[in-house]
Order: sequence, then C-alpha cells, then structure tokens
Amino acid sequence: MPKAKETVLEIDLGALTHNFNYLKSKLQPSTKFLAVVKAFAYGSDSVEVAKHLQTLDVDYFAVAYASEGVVLRDAGITRPILVLHPLPTSFETIIERCLEPSLYNAKVLKEFIATAEAHNQSNYPVHIKFNTGLNRLGFWENDVDYIVSKLQETKSVIVKSIFSHLAASEDKNEVSFSNKQIESFKSTAKAFENKIGYKPWLHLCNTSGVINYPDAHLDLVRCGIGLYGFGNSAKEDESLRPVARLKSVISQIHKIEKDETVGYNRAYKSKGFEKTATIPIGHADGISRIYGNGNGFVFINGKKAPIIGNVCMDMVMVNITNIDCKEGDEVVVFDSGYKASDLAESAQTISYEILTAISQRVKRIIIAD
Ligand SMILES: *Cc1c(COP(=O)(O)O)cnc(C)c1O
Repeated sequence: MPKAKETVLEIDLGALTHNFNYLKSKLQPSTKFLAVVKAFAYGSDSVEVAKHLQTLDVDYFAVAYASEGVVLRDAGITRPILVLHPLPTSFETIIERCLEPSLYNAKVLKEFIATAEAHNQSNYPVHIKFNTGLNRLGFWENDVDYIVSKLQETKSVIVKSIFSHLAASEDKNEVSFSNKQIESFKSTAKAFENKIGYKPWLHLCNTSGVINYPDAHLDLVRCGIGLYGFGNSAKEDESLRPVARLKSVISQIHKIEKDETVGYNRAYKSKGFEKTATIPIGHADGISRIYGNGNGFVFINGKKAPIIGNVCMDMVMVNITNIDCKEGDEVVVFDSGYKASDLAESAQTISYEILTAISQRVKRIIIAD
C-alpha cells in the first residue's frame, strides 16, 4: 500500500472475501447467507461491498431503510434486498425498486398490502418480523392468527420468510435467554406455517448468533459485523480480518514551550518543551470528542501519539514529543494491528459505532481482492 497523504478509509476486499468464507465455513451448505450492508456497509462503502459480495455468491442483502436499497439498485445490485425497518412513506419506492420489506406490526402490514394492491402486485415478497424478547420491532406470537387472516384476504403479497432477532447473542451470560428466544421463535414459526399452509424461510442469527448458536442457523443467517472483521470476542476476532483501515497524515508540526496550551479552550497544557502534530481528521469525520484529552491516540511510525486537548471539527492535535516523524508522514487511526475494536474500548463503545461513525467526508479507497 502506498502511504496515506490525506485522510482515507481503505476498504480491503480481500479481507471481505476472507470473512465471508470464514462465516460460510460455520454454516451447513444449505443455509443461505444474507449480508447486512446497512449504514454504508458499516461505515465502509455499501456499493463496493455489495458488488464484491455479489461476485462471491451471497444470497441476499439487507439494509435498514429503503433509501439504502435504492442506492444499491442504482449501482446495479440485482440480488434480493430485505429492508429491515421500512416506514410507510417508503412503500411505493420499495415496490418500484423491487426491495423486500420487513413487516413488523399491524399498521405496516395493512399499509403495505394496500400499497401492493394499488400497484396491482401479486405475490410480492415480504418478510414477517416477530419479537421474541428484544422488544424493538416485531409482532408477538399471539398475533399469528391476525397476520394470517390479513394475508389470506389478499393475493398481493407472499411471505418469503419469517424472522426474529436475538437480544444478546454475543453474551455468554445470556445463553438461557437466547435459548428461550430460539424456542419461542420456532414455536411461532410452526404456528404460522400451520395456519398459512406453506413454509417460508426461517432466520434468527446475526454474526454472534452464527458463532454461538450453530443449531439455530435455520434456513438463512444475517451477518453484518463479522463480514467487516469483528466477531464480538477476542477469539473470533483472531479468525477475522478488519475490512476498513482509517489513515491520515501529519499536516503540521509545532514545537511548544512549557505551559503553552493546545487547541480550543486551552484544554491541554504543555509540561515542558514538547512537539505536537496536527492531523486532518476531527469529530466531523467520526473521531468523537470523547477521544480528546488523552483518551484516544493514533499511531505514527509505529508509535503511540495521544490526542491532546479537545477534538476539533476538522482536526486533532497529538503529542509527538518522543516520536521521530515529519510533516507528510502517515498516521494510522486504526488498521489490522490496532483495530477499531481497540479504539472503541478506549471510549467504552463498540466496533459497530466506531465504524459507522466514519463520515462520508472521508475518502474511500478500494483495495482489490
Ligand atoms: C444489523 C442487523 C443484523 C446484523 O447484525 P451483526 O451483529 O452486525 O451481524 C442482523 N439482523 C438484524 C435484524 C439487524 O438489524
């Protein structure tokens, strides 16, 4: 890789292939793979990621909102796309762009059927979401009769799958709760199949579900974070490769005397003669203010440089007093050595948040497989 000369997010498609194959290796050959590419493919680049996954024979994609699916359709993604959290304002778009909605309550079920009928659809694929304990989105098991009665009044839609979502699949202390969710989902699915008279696909597992609940993979799994290189455990992280690497550059170096201050509100005060470097990445790029005042650091020529003072909108200043470096040198925020999950830990958050916070201002560089 050439060294970064500006702030860039490198997206390593080879790592994506590796992670896809690793997750696939945990599945039965008949289990289908849905790749979750919501939120710009976890802050990377949904179009490039989806295009690459399409060449790897992924079966399905999922996004959170219809607008994210439209971006994929515009880019030529032809595989089915499940919209996990559609709102009625997007139902027309969903049908126009051949996206497949998750229907999670009576209001969206009725309104989607009405839109499908108004557009003369027959057997339009939909997915019914059940709540089994996350208490976020979904029908309850005792809604089955109602759902089936609504579905039997129309020919406009057909249920391609029924699904639920685990609340704590990564948490070893919640195994009994997760097992209860799995049992509850299976019993709901059985009731649904008996009433409706056909067998939709069943799915329940996200990345940690795939890893921790091999008996619950069912017909399809929905993987997000694992594809991007994180398995929610140190052990799994060893088998996965981070797809995104965030790099920048030193734009200016300052030499300051004892008791001089750095940055807004004079939040950092020098303890002696010190050297600082200014880096063109700030909270508008996804480096939260929480990383200021020594909570976060970057790597310069392999050495840790703590962020000093407050994180600005467009830049951070770091302490390079003991680092041999010059203006124009590369800066690593996270990569495959110091990972996004490590950076997350220093702010008591998780890799998901760090990755998805990288703003669209940061240039994406695609590294071919
Ligand atoms: C985001 C999401 C996933 C993916 O979860 P990961 O932990 O990233 O694998 C799966 N299913 C649903 C319903 C989601 O919202």
